[in-house]
Amino acid sequence: MLYIDNKYAQILGTRLRNFKQKKEYLWNFSCPVCGDSTSNKLKARGYIYRTQQDLFVKCHNCGYGTNLGNLIKRVDSILYDEYVLERYKAGATRYNDHKEVEPILEAASNILEDDILRSLTRLDKLAILKPEHPAIKYLTKRKIPRDKWYLLYFAPKFKEFTNSVSPKFVEPIVDEHPRMIIPYFTNAGKCFAFQARAYGDEQPKYYTIKVDETQEKIYGLDRVDYSKRIYVVEGPIDSLFLSNSIAVSGSSFDTPTIRALLATATLVMDNEPRNKEIVKQLEKYIDVGYSVCMFPEHISQKDINDMVLHGDISPDEIKEIINTNTFTGIEAKLKFGAWNKT
Ligand SMILES: [Zn+2]
Repeated sequence: MLYIDNKYAQILGTRLRNFKQKKEYLWNFSCPVCGDSTSNKLKARGYIYRTQQDLFVKCHNCGYGTNLGNLIKRVDSILYDEYVLERYKAGATRYNDHKEVEPILEAASNILEDDILRSLTRLDKLAILKPEHPAIKYLTKRKIPRDKWYLLYFAPKFKEFTNSVSPKFVEPIVDEHPRMIIPYFTNAGKCFAFQARAYGDEQPKYYTIKVDETQEKIYGLDRVDYSKRIYVVEGPIDSLFLSNSIAVSGSSFDTPTIRALLATATLVMDNEPRNKEIVKQLEKYIDVGYSVCMFPEHISQKDINDMVLHGDISPDEIKEIINTNTFTGIEAKLKFGAWNKT
C-alpha cells in the first residue's frame, strides 16, 4: 500500500503549511494539530515518514503521532474517504483469488488508532483554556513536568468513555467519575491501551485497559531513542520525570520486549529493599544480566514521583542518583548483599 500512501501524502501536502519533501518517503510540514507555531509561521516540526509498508506521522513539537490515514482524516474528510476506498480496492485486487474480507480488515485496522482518544481532552489544551480546572491543579500538585502534559488526557465520565472503546462496565453505569487517561502507543504510534487514574480515593486507583490484547503493557515505546540508555520504571507517571524511559505498569520487568533491550536498559524498580517480593525479583533480574538500580540508603521514598514531591530531589538529580547506583553482574551481586534489608 506504500504507493497509495505516497500518492496521498503528496495530495495532503497541498493542504499543509510549509509542506516540503525532504527525500524519498520523508516530508516535513507545519503540524496542524498544535498550530506549529502560533508565533512563528515558519516553524515546521511535523514529519511524514516510512515504516515498512506504511507512512506514519510525528510532530516533534506536540508529540502527535499517528498513521497517515488519521492525519488525512483530520485535515480533509473527503480526501480521507477516497484514500480508504483506494486502499480497499488495491487490497481487494491483491487478495482477489482468496477471501475478500481480509483487505477490509486491513483497512479497518489502519484507521482505528486515534478514534480511541477522540472523545477526550488533552490536558495541555485544558491548561491553556481553563488553568483552574481540577485536573490541571492535580498535575501541578504532583509536579508532573509541564512539557509532558500533552501526553495526558481527561475523561469527565471515564466509565462511559471506556465502554465506548471496550465494554468493561455493566450498563447502566453506576459510580461514574472523572479520571486521567494515559494512552499507550506502540513504536509506530498506534494506541493499544490506556491507564485510567483516579483523582481521588476511587478504587481501584488505576485501571489499565488493553484495546489490543497481543501487546505487552509497556508505556512510552513511541518516544524512546533506542540508540541511548533506556530506563525502565514501574509506573507511567514516574516515567514522565525521566528522559528516555518506559514503564512496565506493574507487570514483570523481564518481558520479551525488555529482554531485547538487555544491553541498553537500566531497570529502576520501586525503592523497597524491605519488600521480600521486590527483593527476590531484583535478584532474579541481576542473574539474567540486567543493569539494575539499587537506590542508596539515604533515599527513603518509594518511587520517583515521591522523591520529587517529598524528597525535594529534582528529576535531574534522580537521574544522576540512578546512574551512579546502577550495577550489573558480579558487582551487582555484591551491592545486592548490602542493599537487601529483608
Ligand atoms: Zn504538533
